[in-house]
Amino acid sequence: MKRRDFLKTTAGGVLAAGLGFPRVNLLADEAPQAAPALRWYKGNFHCHSQWSDGHDLPEVVVSEYKKHGYDFFSLTDHNILHNDDLRFTGFAMNFTPKDMKPFEGETSFWKRMAAGPGWPNLIQENVDKAKEMFGEDSVRIKETDEGTYVRMKTEKELREQFAEPGKFLLIPGFEMTAQWVHVNLINVNKDFFLEDPSIENLVSASFDKALEFYADNKEPYLFTLNHPLWQYYNIQPSYMFARPGIRFLELTNNDTQWQYYPEAWDPEQLWDIVNAHRAKNGQPALLATGTDDSHGVFRKDYLAYHGWTKVRAASLDVNSILGALQQGQSYVSTGCDFADISFDGKTLAVKLDPQTEGDYRIEFIGAKKDYDETVKYIDVPGEGGRPARKLECWSKEIGKVLESVDGLEASYTLKPDDLFVRAKAYRIGAGYAYHGEAAKQHTLVTADCAWSQPYRDGDKF
Ligand SMILES: [Zn+2]
Ligand SMILES: [Zn+2]
Repeated sequence: MKRRDFLKTTAGGVLAAGLGFPRVNLLADEAPQAAPALRWYKGNFHCHSQWSDGHDLPEVVVSEYKKHGYDFFSLTDHNILHNDDLRFTGFAMNFTPKDMKPFEGETSFWKRMAAGPGWPNLIQENVDKAKEMFGEDSVRIKETDEGTYVRMKTEKELREQFAEPGKFLLIPGFEMTAQWVHVNLINVNKDFFLEDPSIENLVSASFDKALEFYADNKEPYLFTLNHPLWQYYNIQPSYMFARPGIRFLELTNNDTQWQYYPEAWDPEQLWDIVNAHRAKNGQPALLATGTDDSHGVFRKDYLAYHGWTKVRAASLDVNSILGALQQGQSYVSTGCDFADISFDGKTLAVKLDPQTEGDYRIEFIGAKKDYDETVKYIDVPGEGGRPARKLECWSKEIGKVLESVDGLEASYTLKPDDLFVRAKAYRIGAGYAYHGEAAKQHTLVTADCAWSQPYRDGDKF
């Protein structure tokens, strides 16, 4: 089935629920085309604060992303939503006081300050930074017999402080952080946690749980599979075959694309393998998001502002942004912009709007209909907290460069034997996106690069 047909048949229906769009019919054919003034909005769907293991207080994080020109932003702490419930526990933390009297009538998450730095500690410099930015009284602190407690600002408070209609949109979310699988849930108002010893089961179970858990959501939500190639787990291509309803894969994620084995796959090839399989089986395309998953906005080693998603939407509201994303009106960037991406059902044409001076290359990448589906495996030993595992190795013909053009503009017309095509544009010689010592060894994401979504014969954008 072509994407256009898929959208038609699923608008508002059962499958649409599987896409995270339970009730709102955002998939109507005419919606994106009829809107006259579409523009690109920049956003990050993945970032952490002291609500879990981020370095900065939440208001510092949100404020800095706004200053850096982001149009929409989601703070996505581990296993917690930023709501009013009074709490003292969180991701790897339990600061519940024996004497609850000082907290009577209080709301939100109160984190106890630690004596010194360490994961995931809250220390004096974090509090000082917020006070320096927003005033001495901006942070609520309680000195108790059991320690110094600091109140975290809620999502509602952050929205009141920073959101501006048409200028800056905050979308609530969290990162469901199981031991083996991390997924982001965006635009939701309740959180869940799952555990399962099987990575493959967790991928499916977390998607199924979201479908059931958010069935009554009045607005669309976004489900993304995070950092598929990580130090503790690999979400392998075949794990995603079982759940074609999973629409979003986090392609760039700060410095976490670790433990790459060249015989196996990198995140880009993972994306292509799943899309080759889905195209062949008439299933919806897997689309990419870009994030930085930053855990600190001022520290160089936390690499904020290094990866983002651009969405072409009619306006800056959650329905428009998530709706446009769902329709493939987006791309991923680590520093290169597309001025335009168009696809008429056969020809993908892109124009660049480079942010850094230099020579640029545009590659058209895809897979052929008769690609070799044989899977081989390599054994990877367990070490450094990682279990031993067998990694799938797929034909390197999947995700190969079909055509390469040096310049700021190029197009590619699908050939009869192409399953799909996508464009990747980058500054020649830019290297990798992240330049920390560890990143040099592990990170596979190209710097000053932009990735379009995949396009198939008959898709309309
Ligand atoms: Zn994660
Ligand atoms: Zn994260």
